[in-house]
Amino acid sequence: MTEALLKVENLKKSFPIHGGLFGRQVGEVKAVDDISFFIKKGETLGLVGESGCGKSTTGRMLLRLLEPTEGTIHFDGQDLTKLSKEAMRKMRKEIQMVFQDPFASLNPRHTVEKILEEPLIVHGVKDKGVRKKRVRELLETVGLNSWHAKRYPHQFSGGQRQRIGIARALAVHPKLIIADEPVSALDVSIQAQVLNLLQDLQKEFGLTYLFIAHDLGVVRHISDRVGVMYLGQMMELADSESLYESPKHPYTEALLSAVPIPDVDSKQERIVLKGDVPSPANAPAGCPFHARCPKGMEVCASVRPAFKEVERGHYAACHLYD
Ligand code: SF4
Repeated sequence: MTEALLKVENLKKSFPIHGGLFGRQVGEVKAVDDISFFIKKGETLGLVGESGCGKSTTGRMLLRLLEPTEGTIHFDGQDLTKLSKEAMRKMRKEIQMVFQDPFASLNPRHTVEKILEEPLIVHGVKDKGVRKKRVRELLETVGLNSWHAKRYPHQFSGGQRQRIGIARALAVHPKLIIADEPVSALDVSIQAQVLNLLQDLQKEFGLTYLFIAHDLGVVRHISDRVGVMYLGQMMELADSESLYESPKHPYTEALLSAVPIPDVDSKQERIVLKGDVPSPANAPAGCPFHARCPKGMEVCASVRPAFKEVERGHYAACHLYD
């Protein structure tokens, strides 16, 4: 197996809920509840689930923008959870993030040049000439022109702004990019262009991606492997082909049945789930999916299923495989 660049083990994040007259802690939200996964060098892992499932919280913990409650995050041989603030600041050169809303993440009062120079300054590139040259290079790398450097974010389209967001992430030659819903705010036609750009950059620079999305359709073509989360837990994780062609978990089956497929003769039937996703503040015992699962059994309401290998390289947390 190619070496893992990132290895996450038993990662948890809970947020306290305060209430009552004296603001005491009256409960907790388990936003991420004991998940483990790895990403090999040069591969893309898609992380999918409905909003509130913990996928973005996971992405933020990898950069320690949120502190994990428990668990370890090994990146390139070092446990990030043990690093001091200063060591972690330096480590952020290696792990960069691309956000969903490029407009909100780009300072509207700064030119593109200033925006792209910022990470270079933070990571110690002191020579102004070197920075200017790198900015021009970055713009061309993401398919923009060097004269765009003098413009402001509002002078670009949504797709171009996301290219600027990607250029900013690339500025300091990272190894891992966490892309949090990078195409969700874009028109479908533009989504494909940005996905293609990300794939080209991966080949050119040997990048490793964690690609977070709420839609299994979006991550299909970009991901080597895909993990599916529900209520803070990992439900299934497998290589893309195996997950899309032969899903093992009833939740993945339901999500896949909702992805439109272009074949008009397809007999695919949509699995309509009953009820809503329960509140993470009031997560059910047992399997988190049991109240909505079409295949639920008695045991599912009380015993949390183990996340285990059910076929070679294909993991699922479901009592159907006990
Ligand atoms: Fe459904 Fe039970 Fe499997 Fe959960 S453990 S997905 S409730 S069958």
